Amino acid sequence: MPAAASDARPEAGRRLTVIIDAGHGGADGGAVSPSGLMESAVNLDIARRIELILAFFGTDVVMTRTGQSLDYSDKATTIRAKKVEDQKRRLNLVNSTPNAVLISIHQNNFPDDRPFGAQVLYAPTEGSKAFAEYVQQLLITVINPKNRRTAVKIPESIMLLNHIKCPAILVECGFLSNPEEERLLQTGSYKLKLASVIAAGYLKHQRELYSGGMNEG
Ligand SMILES: [Zn+2]
Repeated sequence: MPAAASDARPEAGRRLTVIIDAGHGGADGGAVSPSGLMESAVNLDIARRIELILAFFGTDVVMTRTGQSLDYSDKATTIRAKKVEDQKRRLNLVNSTPNAVLISIHQNNFPDDRPFGAQVLYAPTEGSKAFAEYVQQLLITVINPKNRRTAVKIPESIMLLNHIKCPAILVECGFLSNPEEERLLQTGSYKLKLASVIAAGYLKHQRELYSGGMNEG
């Protein structure tokens, strides 16, 4: 296993750092619900709750953003340029953090108002798929047993999760386009529930994230 180990994999027993990525922000609000609820704000709210819970349990946590506004260089004059610059900043943060685990928080949106349910997507990196499946199952069991979604691989269009080197998942916590989930996503109690499940999923699964070939033997 040492020969196959990537530089992103820590030695046994080393402390991990969880990077919580509140999707979008700044010039990029993300999806907007029919009533005007902005994805970037919901993402940040849930991300900060996960940060608090993990910090409470002694986990080292880094946030990719802590507010709704972001700083850009003078070179980034268009929204597109700002998004690209921000994504590169987040990517550099993740790839320069030793023993990192990335949890990216987003909300789903669909033209049809019927789809509902949290869905976990995973990066192509080692350890990500099992982590995603674990959190997906926990979200179904605790949040909504009617949710039939399964963990899926991240599409190639999502830059961040296709370029990081560490285990990573992206949680689409709910559909802004579904009236019931949109209502729930505006309540602190529901966002706390989501954050608790995601944090608990990490805490329970953390030992397996960097175990490499060991969990196959
Ligand atoms: Zn998003």
